Amino acid sequence: MDPQAVAERVRAGDLRAAARLMRDIDDGLPRAREALKLLYPHGQQARVVGITGSPGVGKSTLTDALVGAYRAQGLTVGVVAVDPTSPFSGGAILGDRVRMQRHATDEGVFIRSLATRGHFGGLTASTRGVVTVMAAMGKDVVLVETVGVGQDEVDIVRTADTTLVVTVPGLGDDVQAIKAGILEVGDIFVVNKMDRPGAAAAARQLEAMLDMELDRERWAGWRPPVVLTCAHDGRGVDRLVEAIAQHHDLLAAEEGRLMLRRRRQRARMELVDLVKSRLLARLEERLEAGGRLEELAERIAQGQADPYTVCEQVLAELEGAPL
Ligand code: GDP
Repeated sequence: MDPQAVAERVRAGDLRAAARLMRDIDDGLPRAREALKLLYPHGQQARVVGITGSPGVGKSTLTDALVGAYRAQGLTVGVVAVDPTSPFSGGAILGDRVRMQRHATDEGVFIRSLATRGHFGGLTASTRGVVTVMAAMGKDVVLVETVGVGQDEVDIVRTADTTLVVTVPGLGDDVQAIKAGILEVGDIFVVNKMDRPGAAAAARQLEAMLDMELDRERWAGWRPPVVLTCAHDGRGVDRLVEAIAQHHDLLAAEEGRLMLRRRRQRARMELVDLVKSRLLARLEERLEAGGRLEELAERIAQGQADPYTVCEQVLAELEGAPL
């Protein structure tokens, strides 16, 4: 099917066409890029919410609760579950989970898991592509759930309009991780498992940390709230939905000045990533053509050349014939 037809079907809500395109995105097929070009302008209205935090804090359970809450409001939802640590792909991970089965027959919910790093320029690029497809399908809200708190996850949550950082009581290490890297990406902090002892103390600790960080450029006057939830029984979930809506309203205020600023930062990252990955792919192709890379490696291995000099030669050649 040509990209035009794929894009039309996706926009009309054809689930099979969407699922196939998402697979093509993950496989890095050029035709997926062509379809994405056509879909990109059509997904700007979707609210993209990122959800991150260490494994086991209850992100999936919370995502499920959020799906339920949004569906109750009559909104349609896309879920992208990203697991950079898992070797599996293809919709098996989250889709298989029993609690998500609750939404499996609901046409207003589309769930997709991503795990492999793909060929599309990495997991972040694949995630962006899948979010674009869901948004173009007309989903009102797209939830992007990632496992862990590493650099990959930070990059992925940066693709969201609103980012939730989830933690639980009694995870001292988690607070350290938040301090180290993801404090600045959180727009809303969630202390899940509020049914466990120490929830109020964990919330206070976060509040204190946030008070010290008030001037963060990204927040622009927004003081990230700390919301206590119990994803199991749904306590606090309405409050969380409200906080997400408030953040969205803030981004949309003044003709979307802050939204535009955030999207500008995101566009910049996305563009740099895309150009880098395409250039890198072309460079590798060029180097490997005709066994050239092997030949250079052999010379270095044999001690006939050093990698620094060879690198300079390769760069000089590129200047003569740019990629
Ligand atoms: P994820 O790895 O962050 O996605 O975490 P999961 O959603 O898979 O949840 C990990 C475990 O915590 C599961 O056994 C959940 O049932 C449990 N869990 C999730 N939310 C809560 C909660 O609010 N309270 C309690 N006590 N357990 C929860």
